[in-house]
Amino acid sequence: MAEPGPDEVPVATLFDAVVGQPSAVAQLRAAAHRPVHAYLLHGPPGTGKRAASRGFAAALLCPDGGCGHCNTCRRTLAGTHPDLVLLERTGASVSVDDAREIAARAQRRPLEADRQVLVVTDIHLATGAAPALLKTVEEPPPSTVFVLIGDELPVSLATIASRCVKVAFDPVPVDAVTAWLVGQGVTEDVARSVAEVSGGRLDRARLLATDPAFTGRVALWHSVPGRLDGTGAAAAVLASELLASAEGALEPLRRRHQDELASLVEQAEAVGARGVAGRKDIEDRHKREERRWRTDELRIGLATLAAAYRDRLVASTEPLPGASPPGGTGDSRWLAGAVDSVEQAARVLGRNPNEALLLEALLVGLSGLGE
Ligand SMILES: [Zn+2]
Repeated sequence: MAEPGPDEVPVATLFDAVVGQPSAVAQLRAAAHRPVHAYLLHGPPGTGKRAASRGFAAALLCPDGGCGHCNTCRRTLAGTHPDLVLLERTGASVSVDDAREIAARAQRRPLEADRQVLVVTDIHLATGAAPALLKTVEEPPPSTVFVLIGDELPVSLATIASRCVKVAFDPVPVDAVTAWLVGQGVTEDVARSVAEVSGGRLDRARLLATDPAFTGRVALWHSVPGRLDGTGAAAAVLASELLASAEGALEPLRRRHQDELASLVEQAEAVGARGVAGRKDIEDRHKREERRWRTDELRIGLATLAAAYRDRLVASTEPLPGASPPGGTGDSRWLAGAVDSVEQAARVLGRNPNEALLLEALLVGLSGLGE
């Protein structure tokens, strides 16, 4: 096969930007041959639903069914084709007003292609607008195809979901996240440790990989066994350092939240509105996300700590030529107990309202266990 010449753009695969979702991609590829009126792409955040919606739209708009290199494909994949319409909520949720706008867009004729693709995001936040949306999604004009995107849907949206062909997106496997990060220039080591704690979410993996403090936080948790000297004072100091580092982990998320609010304020000003609709709800959602993020961060830390004790446990059962294990940590039964108590703390973390107290109690327990 000939190499592409200097002026030729290599053929893109429509779903190149979708990572680790072979069954969703296969389902969308097959669906593009004879599309129905509505699709629901659902699954955790950061699993590639938006990227998939662009690939799917390219397959639907391209005269050749998604060749990957024509003008239509390229503009659709870039999100600039006029018949790929992205409809995003204007406030905290998909409102009745948003639903009206969606209904009006659904009635319009396509501008260039034979059909138009309407992508509606955050459909899980459309509970209040469900009745208004239902009719539109159920019976759009034949030239309109809906692609609804959302996290897991609440029961109140079950009727809308039942009118769509559902395409499930799963957490991205660790190997796929790692390879994706490496492809973006992240070193193999950082990529793997970020992938392991990303929960299969690419958005989170990217935030962690670009967070220069990430490896420092991992190192801090790793240092815990060596720094516990059996005194309550050392345990208390460590607990507060770990909590402060979890707090620091929120920075990238807080920046993203500030940016989101700033762009909503800008949008509101552009249309002459007095303020952002549902601002309080947005801020509440941000607080909830930050709380969840902090808990996740502590859970990541506890997993690192459990791994650190497990490493010592493995080392303690292997004969070390010419060296004996450091004092107090050589007892494999003690180390197995330490792993257990760290894992137990991780399990109750989400249910325990006082994370500081939980962590301190754990570290005090780990200091005392050796005596
Ligand atoms: Zn094409």
